[in-house]
Amino acid sequence: MTASPSTNSIIDRVTSITKELPPQVRLIGVSKRQPASAIRAAYQAHLRDFGESMVQEAIAKQAELTDLEGLTWHLIGHLQSNKARKALEHFEWIHSVDSLKIALRLNQIAGELSRSPYCCLQVKLVPDPAKFGFSLEALWSALPQLNELQHLKIVGLMTIPPLESSIAEVEAIFRQAQMLIDQINQQEFDRLHLSELSMGMSGDYPVAIATGSTMIRLGSTLFGDRPA
Ligand SMILES: *Cc1c(COP(=O)(O)O)cnc(C)c1O
Repeated sequence: MTASPSTNSIIDRVTSITKELPPQVRLIGVSKRQPASAIRAAYQAHLRDFGESMVQEAIAKQAELTDLEGLTWHLIGHLQSNKARKALEHFEWIHSVDSLKIALRLNQIAGELSRSPYCCLQVKLVPDPAKFGFSLEALWSALPQLNELQHLKIVGLMTIPPLESSIAEVEAIFRQAQMLIDQINQQEFDRLHLSELSMGMSGDYPVAIATGSTMIRLGSTLFGDRPA
């Protein structure tokens, strides 16, 4: 196991990245596979938004952190239908709404639980068998139904470029996501008005910020390499 960065180095990294960020960009610390102590360190540097990929792992960490006030939890990984209820109970944000089916399920359970999570629609702008997400075609055909979902606050799009993309390709994908938001907003749906763009990870966040990201999801840059 590689040594995890010390509390001080996490504090330094969070502090210096936070200082660089334009005011419209929200920093989400991706704490997946990191211990609760890493979240505590980032909290000391005033970070309050944390992203996790797996519902059960997040629940376990949340139980260790009940003394920390004002945390906002973001689910950023693919959600299976049978975890939808737990996800709604434990996350305020779901960035990975990647099919109409899961959106319908979340909406139904959110209604039962009287919750209204913030959601992003995860879009796959280039074909990538390794990733979940709406294709453009699937997204456009789902939008009228997504617009009907009363219990979800669908506020933006999330996208992840394929791993092997060049910086130029990443930039093109991010620009496309921004244009897609404009195109969707031009439809003037009564409920769907998108303003958030969840894009940018450790390897590409400067490009994401330059192309309109409002939420960057940083893991290794803040917390060091993830334990295997
Ligand atoms: C793991 C992960 C991140 C963070 O990745 P880093 O490269 O460590 O910054 C961001 N978004 C999603 C969806 C992830 O799964």
